[in-house]
Amino acid sequence: MGDEEELRELEARYCSYGDTVHYLDEPPFFERCEGSFLYDAGGTPFLDLQMWYSAVNFGYANERLGAAARRQLDRLPHLAPQYLHREKVELAAHIARANERRFGLEGRVQFNVGGSQAVEDSLKLVRNAGGGKSRMLAFEGGYHGRTLGATAITSSYRYRRRYGHFGDRAHFLEFPYSFRGPKGMSKQEYGEQCVARFARLFESEYQGAWDPQASECEFAALYVEPVQGTGGYVILPPGFFASLKKVLDQYGIRMVVDEVQMGMYRTGKLWSIEHFGVEPDVIVFGKSVSNGLTPLSGVWAREELIGPEVFPPGSTHSTFAAHPVGTAVALETLRMCDELDLETTVAEKGAYFLEGLRQLRRRHPMVGDVDGLGLALRMEICSPEDSFTPDRSAAEWTAAEGLRGDLDGGAGRKVGLVLDIGGYHKNVFTLAPSLLISVDEVDVALRLLDQLLARAAAR
Ligand code: PMP
Repeated sequence: MGDEEELRELEARYCSYGDTVHYLDEPPFFERCEGSFLYDAGGTPFLDLQMWYSAVNFGYANERLGAAARRQLDRLPHLAPQYLHREKVELAAHIARANERRFGLEGRVQFNVGGSQAVEDSLKLVRNAGGGKSRMLAFEGGYHGRTLGATAITSSYRYRRRYGHFGDRAHFLEFPYSFRGPKGMSKQEYGEQCVARFARLFESEYQGAWDPQASECEFAALYVEPVQGTGGYVILPPGFFASLKKVLDQYGIRMVVDEVQMGMYRTGKLWSIEHFGVEPDVIVFGKSVSNGLTPLSGVWAREELIGPEVFPPGSTHSTFAAHPVGTAVALETLRMCDELDLETTVAEKGAYFLEGLRQLRRRHPMVGDVDGLGLALRMEICSPEDSFTPDRSAAEWTAAEGLRGDLDGGAGRKVGLVLDIGGYHKNVFTLAPSLLISVDEVDVALRLLDQLLARAAAR
């Protein structure tokens, strides 16, 4: 029996199926990774256009970040979180100062181990600031993690169905996803309509969320991903967040910006919210902050939400929060970002990639929509008859075909393509290539997508 066959039998017998591995009929094994590529046991390269859902923005096995991890492993690999190490403090200062420069706001950082856990910490912060209010606002199509508290503010009922409710389920607002918005309405108009509908919640006490006598709103905070990740990389009109924030400020509702997937220059800015000219109250980050080398996440909040008087010692804790290796790598990641001109290069490569996607849309009627902000790019797979009706099975077939590893990579080389699927109808390729991808590799990606779409059309 081959090694892989044996491993598959062990996996089927001993691994829980509760994670997302078995979304695929035959999940692939990989052996090695470098730059933009994963390699299977036979050495076949797979160009990765999802980079661990944007957890490895700076390329697989990034040498500089690997060296930072090895230095830390040799010096101080372990430290219980009640003691201090240099990298934790410098990393918190780096993030807080970056936000002072960007938003003119003072704040602090609390680290944790994963995006969901940092979301839990953010829930504590805004519940506390709201005098214990537990009701949150969030968006349709939003994703904030799968711990119990995070699923209450994540729109999919699927993640809650078996486990019952834990705390208050958020009130979900319509996200102005214009490709599937009202016919004949511009992106801008649809955005304005969504804000107007939201503002209506506070028109009188009978809308159920506002007590005009006490001037008190029922909601503590709104959770938002400025570009929805799992929701399908939907890019909103520029004015949307500014109008939304005006309503939030009017009713004393905090804004928690979930940058777990779109932060760390995915969209060409450190935080994706920077594109939209509003000041956040809380930012949640994770994934690429340590380039996926060691799980690390965190929450930054304005001083009045996280200062020691309101978030005293013991308010949160995890044995592995602020892990020495994770914080060392994250500090090196942020230093590297300051040296690279990512705002320019990500915008340039993103524009080039998007133009290539537009050309693919012209050639393949099954591509209904393409869009992008920086290197967060989307390709929506639809019925070729109307280039609109979502075609989930075609998207799944195409992604599975990419994983077969038999596309023509030129010069007789066989290659694969790694795609992730998101979107409200699970028909969107959410493209998140390495931010250090070369223009030649973008050309390869476009050629491979072209081949895959042709195969899908002929299937
Ligand atoms: N928020 C967003 C926007 C995310 O994309 C994710 C992960 N996909 C999370 C939170 C949860 O992060 P984690 O999977 O690290 O718990």
